[in-house]
Amino acid sequence: MALDTKKLGFNTKALHAGTPPDPTTGARQFPIHQSTAFVFNDAQHGADMFALRSMDFSYSRMTNPTVDALQKRLAELEGGVGCVAVASGIAAHLVALLPLMQPGMEFVASSRIYGGTVNQFTNTFRERFGWNVKWVDITNPEEVKAAINEKTRCIFMESISNPSGVVADIEAIAKIADSAGIPLVVDNTIASPALCRPFEHGAHIITHSTTKYLSGHGTAMGGAVIDSGKFDWKKHADKYPSLAAPNASYDNIVFADQFGEMAYTVYGIVVGLRDVGPCQSPLNAFLTLSGIETLSLRMERHSENALKVAEFLKAHPCVEWVSYSGLPDSQFFPLVKKYMKNGYASSVFTFAIKGGISEGKAFAEKLKLFSFLANIGDTRSLVIHPASTTHSQVPPERRAQIGIGENVVRLSIGLEDIEDIIADIDQALKAATNQKAAA
Ligand code: PLP
Repeated sequence: MALDTKKLGFNTKALHAGTPPDPTTGARQFPIHQSTAFVFNDAQHGADMFALRSMDFSYSRMTNPTVDALQKRLAELEGGVGCVAVASGIAAHLVALLPLMQPGMEFVASSRIYGGTVNQFTNTFRERFGWNVKWVDITNPEEVKAAINEKTRCIFMESISNPSGVVADIEAIAKIADSAGIPLVVDNTIASPALCRPFEHGAHIITHSTTKYLSGHGTAMGGAVIDSGKFDWKKHADKYPSLAAPNASYDNIVFADQFGEMAYTVYGIVVGLRDVGPCQSPLNAFLTLSGIETLSLRMERHSENALKVAEFLKAHPCVEWVSYSGLPDSQFFPLVKKYMKNGYASSVFTFAIKGGISEGKAFAEKLKLFSFLANIGDTRSLVIHPASTTHSQVPPERRAQIGIGENVVRLSIGLEDIEDIIADIDQALKAATNQKAAA
């Protein structure tokens, strides 16, 4: 008999949701359905799928069984009603905002978020699409409230921000969204659902870069958009015509009428993926499903290791400051305790090495165990020097304002033995700072 995972625990869902044994072969591991298209039973079946009267598998740009299994698992882990898996975390923002935005409309976004998202919102969404972002300090609810007007269509923020670990007060911002009649979209990449479940605190939509902790092993690009099913599109029909007005590309159906709480997810698949096209590959969905099986265990160890590294850095004579929200004296620690499981704060954070740009770069180069690259959330420890890479296009004054000065380093702490991680950091700090003394 089929297992209903909906009422089971988080770890059981992480192993079983969406992936029953294969009914044809008995394979226990969920198959990689590496097929672009799926045969119609007959002409009526084909016609029904194209008119959305049937939602079977047809073409892998929209729907694929392995990708569908991942969508089901992610929806259950976040406590949502539906999920659209996409090609990357950046694609998730596009598919998340497509049903909400129109040229000339606005959205409010936290300014302390991933630099790639800042670029996407500023250069492409605002300049090319006319989706006008208004940046706010998400730690200041009054500023968020003041930025909203009749053109605003959503609020966007990260639960724990990359790279500086700002933790937003999800409940306070969700209340502001509710009273403005707009959805709150939370990028939950850094926390993952193992640590934080934004729907339980009032968020309406969640996005992920599954490239990071969800897939977990640095093997698969991917993204996801998950819907709580709680936002009433019909009540705010004037703002959201994509979901609440007739759609000319599908016989003038109204998505909110036809699909109820699944309207936003179905739109993401049958319009977002159909017309914009960033589908996730079945192989990446398979790798991500496998990664998720150990998500909770990994997030605990990532967070425990990160806390030990942050404590070590704080006491180190070559370090100016450490910004890790899991440290009890962090301004964000009360919010970590409120929103993150067991006060775990994940494993991405920044610190400033004593010195300037040359010490920052030298530290990254001198590490031996850490990999110097542009990724986070791998099992292995990773490092980057943001001012010369991810944030090199951000003006220096702005970099300093957002806590990413020239001597700032971002770490993503992995699952290696903590003694080895700390020894590597210690030798690199000494080598990087001595280098200057010798010069
Ligand atoms: N959101 C966050 C918080 C990220 O850190 C990243 C990438 O680092 C993204 C989104 C974009 O994800 P991707 O690189 O999978 O497109």
